[in-house]
Amino acid sequence: MVGLFFIIGNELITESEHFTKGKQEGAIYRYSKTHKEVWDELYKGKYKVEYDFYPRGEVIYELCSDSYIVYKDSCIDNSYIDKCIAFTIKSKYTIISDERFLCHACRTNSNIFGAICGDILGSTFEFEEKKYNNISEIDLFRDGSHFTDDTVLTLAVADWLLHDLNDYEDDDYFKDKLVKRIVDYVCRKYKNQPLGYGFSFWQWCNKAYLIDEYEPYNSFGNGSAMRVSPVGWFFDTMEETMRFAKLSADITHNHPEGEKGAMCIAAAIFLARNGKSKSEIKKYIIQTFGYSELNLSVEVLREKSNYSVTCQDTVPLAVAAFLESTDFESAIKLAISYGSDSDTIAATAGSIAEAYYKEIPLYIADFCKCKLDKHAACLCKEFFDFVNKQSQKNI
Ligand SMILES: [Mg+2]
Repeated sequence: MVGLFFIIGNELITESEHFTKGKQEGAIYRYSKTHKEVWDELYKGKYKVEYDFYPRGEVIYELCSDSYIVYKDSCIDNSYIDKCIAFTIKSKYTIISDERFLCHACRTNSNIFGAICGDILGSTFEFEEKKYNNISEIDLFRDGSHFTDDTVLTLAVADWLLHDLNDYEDDDYFKDKLVKRIVDYVCRKYKNQPLGYGFSFWQWCNKAYLIDEYEPYNSFGNGSAMRVSPVGWFFDTMEETMRFAKLSADITHNHPEGEKGAMCIAAAIFLARNGKSKSEIKKYIIQTFGYSELNLSVEVLREKSNYSVTCQDTVPLAVAAFLESTDFESAIKLAISYGSDSDTIAATAGSIAEAYYKEIPLYIADFCKCKLDKHAACLCKEFFDFVNKQSQKNI
């Protein structure tokens, strides 16, 4: 059989036919229709997106080797092909990742990229303290845009989750590992870069670097919320998400407001990526964490807010920006419109918006990708591939 497939969340869609009925191109037979033709004919009306939005691939037959080749998006795990698609082939096959089949999320390096885009786009607004009552006046694509501490610490948390977790260790072990990751990012990988770290954090980090000891400093700054987004993406249950969000805060931000800020953002991402509606997310956050400000509009919150870098002031602003947004771009603009700690509020709003809208517009992703170094880009991709493959294994 030759054919095409799409993977839409937990659903696998296949179209196939005997290779002799397919289209012959030299020594190759492939399915007689293209992905676009199949999608437009059968699925576009239902899913309301273009054919290249979801992961996809094709199975072709190669006459000379008398075998099949499965070409697929790189975010699809080979074991998923073996488990879910191979039975339709019933013969020898090879699996090859092919850039022709990159889905929207792969093209935008999704998952933790929402926070990073928010950080980059908000970076030049951070110290302007200018409120925007009309968000169409906000030009997101400024020359001086750059990644800041929010991105570096998000990367450190992602690296920690990818490489330091196992089933057997306790919370203290995980916290020690996270401290080492953060020190490695701040004092080695991105050392000597003025990225806007808070003074207390800088002192804490240098002490951990120099004498390998750390002491949480009871912070309720928004540093715990700015770095937590990978936790929201990584775990299968809310219980684990909350455990590791709290852990990720506790190494520095062990004040109840510091913990709450991190847990709230991770919970919002977890709920959004699992298909919860905005009203469900809002209700959960108010019931679990308080933040009754979420009952107010962005306009009212903007009027009332002053520049702040605390969790209790900025986390509700970020969540409110997401709740009132209509897409990823408007979430970032609403976050910037407060005229407060713009890079962090945009990073936290962006991290939830990405999970909810499931896409970052290509023009934003392309602009922000150019601001990242190779390590950051590769880690985003590694994190994205890992999370996607985990979710496919759960099917
Ligand atoms: Mg920053």
